[in-house]
Amino acid sequence: MQPDNQVDVAFVGEEQTLGLPVTTRSGSRTALDLAGRALWRIPGCFDIARLIGPGFSLRCVIFHDISDAESSLTKGMGVTVTRANFESALRFLAEHYTPVSLHEVLEQSGGRRLPPRPVLVTFDDAYASVVEFAAPLCRKFGVPAVFFVNAAFLDNQRLALDNLVCHVANSFGLDAVNAAIRAVDDKERIQVQSLTEVFSLFLPSISLPARRGFCDALVQLARTSEQGLAREAGLYVTSRQLRELSSFNFEIGNHTYTHVNCRSLSESDFDEEVARNKAVLEDISGRLVRSFSVPYGSTADLTPALSAHLRSTGHEAIFLAESVANPTGVDLFEMNRVSVKGRSDAELFSEIEILPRLRMLRNRLSGIANSGLTRKVSHLERVN
Ligand SMILES: [Zn+2]
Repeated sequence: MQPDNQVDVAFVGEEQTLGLPVTTRSGSRTALDLAGRALWRIPGCFDIARLIGPGFSLRCVIFHDISDAESSLTKGMGVTVTRANFESALRFLAEHYTPVSLHEVLEQSGGRRLPPRPVLVTFDDAYASVVEFAAPLCRKFGVPAVFFVNAAFLDNQRLALDNLVCHVANSFGLDAVNAAIRAVDDKERIQVQSLTEVFSLFLPSISLPARRGFCDALVQLARTSEQGLAREAGLYVTSRQLRELSSFNFEIGNHTYTHVNCRSLSESDFDEEVARNKAVLEDISGRLVRSFSVPYGSTADLTPALSAHLRSTGHEAIFLAESVANPTGVDLFEMNRVSVKGRSDAELFSEIEILPRLRMLRNRLSGIANSGLTRKVSHLERVN
């Protein structure tokens, strides 16, 4: 599930934070990325990186699907990393960082007393490829991980909406997706031009019932059944595989029952999507579910009501995916993760060490600028 660069979780979050024209963002990102890669060739590059940004404690990285080939259900989403690239990333992390478990993170109070340069590896969306390819490699490199799961899709009885949208777009074109949008948006306000727009504009704007209606319309347009497509694809883990993951030092985490935009949930939906998912996963795995990953990874979905619900239902950590650095003394209820795609050490260094720091600086500066603007506005309000 979930979108990237063009459609990626991390990038969607990034776009929302940046608020700049797309061309400016892409151009500046490329230039900064190249500078980050060049820095890798300089001795003491990690020390230099520390000078760039503020204190950077726990690095958290996020992967989704680990596979050498995309299918119609994943092509264009930017969620797939090849096995070779994943192995390169794990080797890089094991060599230059100290991989830690969620247990260590929870025990060590926000990363302050964790080992030097700690990194936490996470996987979202319960792709079967994680069990088949990623977990054995994690064991090989001694890397623990957290696996965030939507219980509705276990055993491939249902298909996540994101993968269904992707399948319809790849098989029938965006016109079919727009037809499904019109089925639930009778005012015809939204006409998407890309998968990115489906994930970043349309889905966050609709209610849970409209989301179900959109799913039904897509299934009709695809002239198939959701269950048939899910079974045929075999995209997600089975209950048995979920239980096996603990032998690879994987902890299971909550990612909502059906992978929804949490900003659209009312408090009465929390039981259905959050508490129910936790209970089902604990029942199957026989282990406590202690962490939550916000679907689509955006701060906008971590509403105060959701945050309060998570704290009151036994969750001890919440993860976003806006690809920004976590400051020293990170808040366990708002940890950020970096989406990793690079293959070379230079690319990985830039993705994990440089760009997240720069984004964090940018967010702080834009926060200062915004608060300055707010002060000016309130001053004017007082004057008037
Ligand atoms: Zn997800």
